[in-house]
Amino acid sequence: MAAQETDDHKYVYDFSEGNKDLKDLLGGKGANLAEMTNLGLPVPPGFTITTEACQAYLATGREPDGLAGQIEAHLRALEREMGKRLGDPGDPLLVSVRSGAKFSMPGMMETVLNVGLNDQSVVGLAAQAGQNDRFAWDSYRRLIQMFGKTVCEVPGEEFEHALDEVKRAKGTHNDLDLDADDLRGLVDAYKKIFAKHTGREFPQQPREQLDLAIRAVFESWNAERAVLYRRQERIPADLGTAVNVVTMVFGNLGPDSGTGVAFTRDPGSGAQGIYGDYLANAQGEDVVAGIRNTVPLQDLERLDKSSYDELLSIMARLEEHYRDLCDIEFTIERGKLWMLQTRVGKRTAAAAFVIAGQLVDEGLIDLNEALHRVNGAQLAQLMFPRFQLDHEFEAVATGIGASPGAASGTVVFTSARAVELAAEGKSVILVRRETNPDDLNGMIAAQGILTSRGGKTSHAAVVARGMGKTCVSGADEIDVNVPAKRFTVAGRTVGEGDVISIDGTTGKVYLGEVPVMPSEVVQYFEGSLDPEHIDNPLVRAVHRIMTHADGRRRLAVRTNADTGADAARARRFGAEGIGLCRTEHMFLGDRRELVERLILARAEGERDEALAALLPLQRADFEEIFREMDGLPVTVRLIDPPLHEFLPPLEQLAVNVAVAQERGEDVAKEEALLAAVRRMHEENPMLGLRGVRLGLVIPGLFAMQVRAIAEAAVAVVRAGGRACPEIMVPLVGAVQELETVRAEAEKIIAEVVGDSAVEVLIGTMIEVPRAALTAGQIAEAAEFFSFGTNDLTQMAWGFSRDDVEGAFFWRYLELGIFGISPFESIDTDGVGRLVRIAAEEGRAARPGLKLGVCGEHGGDPDSVHFFHEVGLDYVSCSPFRVPVARLEAGRAAVETDGSDSR
Ligand code: PEP
Ligand code: MG
Repeated sequence: MAAQETDDHKYVYDFSEGNKDLKDLLGGKGANLAEMTNLGLPVPPGFTITTEACQAYLATGREPDGLAGQIEAHLRALEREMGKRLGDPGDPLLVSVRSGAKFSMPGMMETVLNVGLNDQSVVGLAAQAGQNDRFAWDSYRRLIQMFGKTVCEVPGEEFEHALDEVKRAKGTHNDLDLDADDLRGLVDAYKKIFAKHTGREFPQQPREQLDLAIRAVFESWNAERAVLYRRQERIPADLGTAVNVVTMVFGNLGPDSGTGVAFTRDPGSGAQGIYGDYLANAQGEDVVAGIRNTVPLQDLERLDKSSYDELLSIMARLEEHYRDLCDIEFTIERGKLWMLQTRVGKRTAAAAFVIAGQLVDEGLIDLNEALHRVNGAQLAQLMFPRFQLDHEFEAVATGIGASPGAASGTVVFTSARAVELAAEGKSVILVRRETNPDDLNGMIAAQGILTSRGGKTSHAAVVARGMGKTCVSGADEIDVNVPAKRFTVAGRTVGEGDVISIDGTTGKVYLGEVPVMPSEVVQYFEGSLDPEHIDNPLVRAVHRIMTHADGRRRLAVRTNADTGADAARARRFGAEGIGLCRTEHMFLGDRRELVERLILARAEGERDEALAALLPLQRADFEEIFREMDGLPVTVRLIDPPLHEFLPPLEQLAVNVAVAQERGEDVAKEEALLAAVRRMHEENPMLGLRGVRLGLVIPGLFAMQVRAIAEAAVAVVRAGGRACPEIMVPLVGAVQELETVRAEAEKIIAEVVGDSAVEVLIGTMIEVPRAALTAGQIAEAAEFFSFGTNDLTQMAWGFSRDDVEGAFFWRYLELGIFGISPFESIDTDGVGRLVRIAAEEGRAARPGLKLGVCGEHGGDPDSVHFFHEVGLDYVSCSPFRVPVARLEAGRAAVETDGSDSR
């Protein structure tokens, strides 16, 4: 359809003008409607108003110049194509006005159906539909209801109540029992409600309806729930939504009409097959809202074979075209199939891996693409434990496993209560008949979501899957009574505060708390499942993709571990060494007393005695770790935290001493301790006597640790093992600090190692901004750098890492100062810049300088991509994050280094 543009800037695109790659401009829905149109699939004609128009509207509060004219031109062209006019009293064209942002935001923004109906055209519609008055009045009442709620903020419940009232008078619960007269009466009632709340009559001008509906969709971008959803999903706030104006097709024209949603594969497990829900004689929103229970899509074969066959062939075509799982919405109008939407479908973490593997098998994608299509967050989800069930636990109800996982928690019935209890640290399960977008806060706060209505595509299911939350939907044996705060199931009553467990994979609901067991993916990483010989498609897919990631990645992955057990586990998970062994944990427990003696020592002799007692203990610690990591590098960091952390808190000690004195007890020892604690008290201990400063101030402390490391390495090597120790000095800010420590350490190492074949590297953490900025100098004295991005973030931002996240980050996130805590994901502009400078200047000064990161960011997916890009040699993270880092390092390599297969 050709449209005459009335302004230079193009704000409106006919479906035939777009394609799937124009999501930024046309939103996901518009771009894919265009793609389907161009594929020749049956899409109702229409046009898309761009996200740029929305952005302009939101910035200025009015439609941009030229938009109205372009809409007019496209509308005229649509009318010509359909042979009808919008709101024509005799034979009206009706349109839907649908939101559609670049990223799917299910149910977050507005849709208005049946635009173009008024008191005259309702009669024309009835005639056009074969004198179907019931249908026409039903469509009209839906328009007033949706328009009222969406465009004019009329409270939705008022319309619901009026509908309930008519049904009650008729003695029925079913909408379908209402006849044309009932619905005509309802239209009158709705109009009164509309007039009462808006102070005006329901607009009869079709073009005015259209313009107001478009404006309402623009504005819905900034609705509270949409803002909240975007924050949760990290969708940028300035994208705006596109608006699709689509010729109406009707699923509510009788039993030979209907509407449905479908997936080309199971979005829960990835299994191939036909998955979807169908509802005869209904419009689209009835399915998504889960208001009436749907039938499985397979039943459509019996109800309308030819539409079913056509749908299946379209689904196969879409999968092949998009080379991925697609989800679709469709409507059948009197036996004619129409495609209303498609997109690459959301899926669970398990399905993402399984489908990526299947598509490789089917030759639709290669392994690089498969790797690109999964991510570390999904892998982390698959490593969660699952329920361990025995006969003691019997399911009281079974719904649909809508979003997998195992969740136990206290039952709550409202979003507000979920938020309240979660804030107290409680794990809660939000139980609702069905959820709607207003429940978003509660869903975020809850551990799991249970609904008694709705299918795999209901609001609860779609949103929970997007959030990675456990969800069971449509458990219809459960009778939920929200006002009474209870539900009944199998003759039992469960109230707010009772504990239940839900399994989002099987859809089962249990009373009480069910114990959990490790996931199969973890068992595979642990080495107890052989991927070649097990019939578990998920484990096989994970194995295949991980193997490819390992083959592609440039970053090595090490672990942060300071016990033999952690080191062993991390090694099974694929760690290629230890990037951070924190030695301070070795000074706790029954060794605390020795540390106390060391700190309190007044004379050299006392201190040496304490150090001599600590030496063999430390040596044994390191021997165990070197043995576990046989042949792999182990970075041991010399003691870092302020020493008072090993002493009792000042206040507690002062009270103890005072009480003991009061009782006339001998308190000499406690008084000495109190005096020492007072002496060592610091206002800002994280910026005080810690790290390398301790080593320089307390004679013999670092020397003892260096000796223990060297002796342990020699012992392991003598016993036939291979030890590769790397000694790391924390909190260095100036090369002189490192040089001093290094000189002493080299002497001890030379003395201990002698001519045994042990090489000990000496390097430093880069965690003080000054170190990053003088990295060229520091590299002269360091064989390696390891970025301590926890402290580097703390000191670069001036954020106390122990306080700020709980204290005020919520406000920073709300204001969009950052989208995610910089302690969670590296702040590439600031802290990342320091990393980049240090890496470049360090390597310039010492070309072979080894570079790694051992702050928490080493296991964060986005940060791993950044470290890859900066060119570090390795990341180091906690044992459980090791597989995540391996996967992300592989993805980073495929994404930045191109697709050459190795
Ligand atoms: C760091 O600061 O990033 C680091 C790894 O050291 P720690 O967390 O022990 O201070
Ligand atoms: Mg640190």
